[in-house]
Amino acid sequence: MTVQSILATKGKDVTTGDPSMTIAQVCARLAEHRIGALVMTDESRSVVGIISERDVVRVMANGGADALQDTASRHMTRTVITCGKRDSVDDVMEKMTRGRFRHVPVCDNGELVGIISIGDVVKYRMAEIEREAQDMRSYIATA
Ligand code: AMP
Repeated sequence: MTVQSILATKGKDVTTGDPSMTIAQVCARLAEHRIGALVMTDESRSVVGIISERDVVRVMANGGADALQDTASRHMTRTVITCGKRDSVDDVMEKMTRGRFRHVPVCDNGELVGIISIGDVVKYRMAEIEREAQDMRSYIATA
């Protein structure tokens, strides 16, 4: 199964931010959209960074409430691992496991076209396991 088939179900909408936002604004947007990470983009919708709830926790632990006024650009991860629409879900899982992160933006020709979270991957794996179990039950019933 490919990234494209997950996007076909969940849609292509990605909540983004820009690096000049403050950490307080990042928190507000994460809370408003009930998400764990914001993909930071430039005017041409190219990915320039990512900031997740883990980054916010680290910033707060190190800088306290004053750090809420820092810009996201100061704390976001700039080297973002992305995937393409035609990549397999297994490849994305591998990237998440190896990089120890839970979000992978999807890019097409350098443009952001979706995001896959660990929740999407788990949902896909659960459906796959259920399908395999169903196939096994049908096989046993007809054997
Ligand atoms: P997460 O598990 O997604 O909350 O992210 C854990 C850490 O990895 C944070 O420092 C994020 O900024 C960073 N991160 C999240 N997603 C990616 C990604 N696709 N590529 C590189 N770093 C990432």
